[in-house]
Amino acid sequence: MTPLPHPAPPSAPLPTHALPSYLHAAELGPWGNYLQQVDRVIPHLGPLARWAETLKRPKRILVVDVPIQMDDGRVAHFEGYRVQHNVSRGPGKGGVRFHQDVTLSEVMALSAWMSIKNAAVNVPYGGAKGGVRVDPKTLSLGELERMTRRYTSEIGIIIGPNKDIPAPDVNTNEQTMAWMMDTYSMNVGSTTTGVVTGKPVDLGGSLGRREATGRGVFTVGVEAARRLDLHLLDARVAVQGFGNVGSVSAKLFAEAGARVVAVQDHSATLYAEAGLDVAALQRHAAEHGGIAGYAHAQSLSSDAFWDVESDILIPAALEQQITEANAGRIRTRMVIEGANGPTTPAADDILADRNILVVPDVIANAGGVTVSYFEWVQDFSSFFWSEDEINQRLVRIMREAFAAVWAVADERRVSLRTATFIVACKRILHTRELRGLYP
Ligand code: NAD
Repeated sequence: MTPLPHPAPPSAPLPTHALPSYLHAAELGPWGNYLQQVDRVIPHLGPLARWAETLKRPKRILVVDVPIQMDDGRVAHFEGYRVQHNVSRGPGKGGVRFHQDVTLSEVMALSAWMSIKNAAVNVPYGGAKGGVRVDPKTLSLGELERMTRRYTSEIGIIIGPNKDIPAPDVNTNEQTMAWMMDTYSMNVGSTTTGVVTGKPVDLGGSLGRREATGRGVFTVGVEAARRLDLHLLDARVAVQGFGNVGSVSAKLFAEAGARVVAVQDHSATLYAEAGLDVAALQRHAAEHGGIAGYAHAQSLSSDAFWDVESDILIPAALEQQITEANAGRIRTRMVIEGANGPTTPAADDILADRNILVVPDVIANAGGVTVSYFEWVQDFSSFFWSEDEINQRLVRIMREAFAAVWAVADERRVSLRTATFIVACKRILHTRELRGLYP
């Protein structure tokens, strides 16, 4: 029998690599931003810091080929991903994005931010995310359905109501979730509504889910504004992204008396000093696929969006929008991150130096996953709650989570982002420690 090797002396370096081989240092992208955010929290983790490396390594990455027959008979191939970052606290949970710029680094970062977010609002989930590198606007409805179904089938080996539960994200919606639920159900042989959230209400979806992320953004916005002594009545709001998150956030702020002075989406940048009619703009965007062509506003160049003076700025489009290049120009009192990862760590520091409060994504946009959690619970019990009940529970969870994070930021003199990471990472690493390492 070969003798077992002697254990290395404790001072020897661990035989592991700092970076995974599938992502080179030059391609870190949003994942690199996430790693920097983790490094900022490690000094605050006390003895749990010994587990912190777990946070820097996704548990599982699946890259899939998604071939579909196009309407003209040719076969197109798309690259799809599902990343499960951490499942110490429960099944993976996180959206699916269809976008031409989706990369592995992006999906890894988004999955990690889901771990942090789910722990920050204390829903019993780990973090996951998925995506397909495709511009869905170039596909017919039939092609989009075939692509969604094939992607779902390919990731079917790792998703499931107790394993990993996808939801909508950029360019995916209730219809996408209905196709995903049906495909998964067909493959397992029985209707399994709890495999995805963000479904149509008639298919086991939850009332209030469509508006949940925007409602969460608004709720933490109100809480943060109160603490800054900023009155919402007549406050100027600028919103980047006018999809699910941006348009609902804009609508709720406008209903509270704020003036939505600027809106930007992929098609245009609009400005109106007196405030845009958000409901009319929503109708226009639904009809025309974007805000371009809306008559009752001034049109700006896309870069000029960052010069608009506001009291509240809500990035609600994509990552890495507020960077070293524009953070010094932004004139606002607070940034509420509706999008995931819109601010780079360098821009975070510039905004902090300029006394601009940043309410980070990992708490600000957690309303969506909170109501997704309600949807999942309702699907398991086949008992559905009223919209009032859902909104009340959502607002309570968001307020409590925000207050807890605010208290940590105050006590430790750190940013709200680092405070949210402290709360969340402690929860994640505590479960890691309780569970122990397998085998
Ligand atoms: P969506 O597809 O409904 O809307 C995306 C919006 O961004 C569109 O208005 C689009 O025109 C705009 N956009 C795209 N590229 C742009 C660009 N280069 N410049 C300006 N605008 C651009 O997506 P969504 O669900 O609203 O998601 C938006 C952000 O919120 C993403 O970061 C997403 O991860 C995050 N988020 C979404 C949810 C949710 O429940 N949908 C939950 C949490 C976080």
